[in-house]
Amino acid sequence: MSLLQTLVSAGAAALMTLSAPLDTLAPQNDVSGTLFLVNRQNTITEAYEPEDLVEAQVSGSVRRMRAEAAAALEEMFAACREETRLTLISVSGYRSWSKQNNIWQRKLRSVKKNVEKAQEYVAPPGASEHQLGLAMDIGQKSKAHLTEAFGKTEGGKWARENCWRFGFILRYAEEWEEITGYKFEPWHFRYVGREYAKEIHDAGIPFETWLIRYRTDLLTGLLEEGTE
Ligand SMILES: [Zn+2]
Repeated sequence: MSLLQTLVSAGAAALMTLSAPLDTLAPQNDVSGTLFLVNRQNTITEAYEPEDLVEAQVSGSVRRMRAEAAAALEEMFAACREETRLTLISVSGYRSWSKQNNIWQRKLRSVKKNVEKAQEYVAPPGASEHQLGLAMDIGQKSKAHLTEAFGKTEGGKWARENCWRFGFILRYAEEWEEITGYKFEPWHFRYVGREYAKEIHDAGIPFETWLIRYRTDLLTGLLEEGTE
C-alpha cells in the first residue's frame, strides 16, 4: 500500500468512527491559512501571532482580527443592520497566547486547580481559536452576550443563519459537543472564507468532521490523478 492509500484509508476510518483521535490526520494546513484547526488536541505555539491584525470597523470591543476576517465581519454586521435593523457588536476577537493564559490561570484558581472543571469554561492557552485572529464572539447591542441567551435573540438567530454568506461558521453547536470538545457557544464564530463556509454550512457538520472529509477528498483526488 502506498503512503497515500494508507492516508486515505485512515481518513475513511476516522470518518466512520469519529472517535478516532483527530491527530492521526494532523492538519497540514499553514497556521496562517483560514482552515487551520485549533482545539485541545491541535494547539498553537506560544510564539504565534498573526501579522495582519487590524481593528474591525464595527461597534463593540476587542475588535482586532486578521484583515480578511475583519473586512468580512464588517460586511456581515452591515448586512444584518440592513436586513433586520439590528445592531450586532463585537465582544471578543483576537487574543494572544499570554492573554488566554491569564484567563486560564484565573479560572484554574477559581476551581481549585481542577483542570477538567476549568476546561468546561475556558480553553487552555494555545487551544483557543481566538489566537488565530479568525474568531469573533458576537453579541447583539443591549442584549446579554456570551451566554446561551444570545442564541435566542433575533441577532443571534440571524448570525447563525447568515454567517456563512460572509465566510464565517458557527463553531460550537449544541449537538457537536462531543466532537468539538466545547459546550454550545451561540456567540462564537470562526472565519474560514466564503467558499469553505458555504460548504461547511451546507454539510451541517462540525469543522473537525468537515476537515477530515476535506483532507480525504484531497488525497483521493491526488490518488486518482496519480493513476490516470
Ligand atoms: Zn469565542
